[in-house]
Amino acid sequence: MRKQYVIPIFVPHLGCPNDCIFCNQRSISGQQKMITKEDVIKTIDFYLENIKDKEAKKEIAFFGGSFTGIDVEKQEEFLQTAYEYIKQGKADSIRISTRPDYINRTILKRLKKYKVETIELGVQSANDYILKRCNRGHTFKDVKKASKLIRLYGFKLGHQMMVGLPESTRIDEINTAKELIKLKPKMVRIYPVLVIKNTKLEKEFLEKTYIPLTVVQAVETCKELVTMFNKKKIEIIRLGLQNTDEITDPNIKGSEVVAGPYHPALRQLVESGLWYDAILEKIKKLNVKVKKVEVTVNPQDVNNVIGHKRENIEKLKEMYTVDLIVKQNKNIKPGKLELKVLEKYPEFLEDYK
Ligand code: SF4
Repeated sequence: MRKQYVIPIFVPHLGCPNDCIFCNQRSISGQQKMITKEDVIKTIDFYLENIKDKEAKKEIAFFGGSFTGIDVEKQEEFLQTAYEYIKQGKADSIRISTRPDYINRTILKRLKKYKVETIELGVQSANDYILKRCNRGHTFKDVKKASKLIRLYGFKLGHQMMVGLPESTRIDEINTAKELIKLKPKMVRIYPVLVIKNTKLEKEFLEKTYIPLTVVQAVETCKELVTMFNKKKIEIIRLGLQNTDEITDPNIKGSEVVAGPYHPALRQLVESGLWYDAILEKIKKLNVKVKKVEVTVNPQDVNNVIGHKRENIEKLKEMYTVDLIVKQNKNIKPGKLELKVLEKYPEFLEDYK
């Protein structure tokens, strides 16, 4: 399969009429200028020069809140610039992200003209009360309408949802995933909420009216969401905000994160947590008290089976006194495991022979 590279271009959404309580794009964009066509060319050329694998699929992605909300002339200028690379065979596709209420037939026709392939919608929650509570400025009906139109026009649909929004419960988040699945996205991003400096959420956090999730709580909910999306073969293209100089441990100087379930390897915590549950379930089904087991998986799963900082191995030993040996075999399908008991504890009665 061809490797895929994303060429990210961040488009600040100057003058976004919304004011989502978790977002500080306004305060950041106060210092930022709108990027120019030259910036776009410079970024694309830089990435193209550095992508060694010439056969790989290269996607130009316009990230930032709401691409289709910016000035139409600017949109066309950026899209035309990216499209030139597609026409010359230097890049393969274009992706944009936007809000559900900034999608209509005219907008979609414009995106089609420039061969945009994927449209990601910031959904955040399927609960209208939570959307209102977070000042999103749109309802879930807008998400349904936009998603259907996007698919009708033949784009690949992506959704972004958040975990741990104010007054949102685990049930709300599971319900959001259920509602999104019904809209048939090809891919999703899951973002546990981090409290960012200079946001309304920071104020609520300081006033103690908003209590962020812990890493453990975020991981537990994400495990359920990942299982639901995996079952429907919906690709999870990101779990947790990307680490940058600003989005990093709140204890590090210069971090924009004030609080919340920040972890540099959140996705690994979620995936290895799922492996731990799967291994434990298999062990519990055995009719013997095991002392040592060997688990064989596809090479790509080995790290997650072992866990972040060997967490799964340590936890099995500590909680169930089981030694876990992890082996790899490329003939085993990714996501599958084979378990062999290497050593059992003697039967209770045998101790007294
Ligand atoms: S999240 Fe998007 S829509 Fe909300 S305030 Fe930020 S840029 Fe605007």
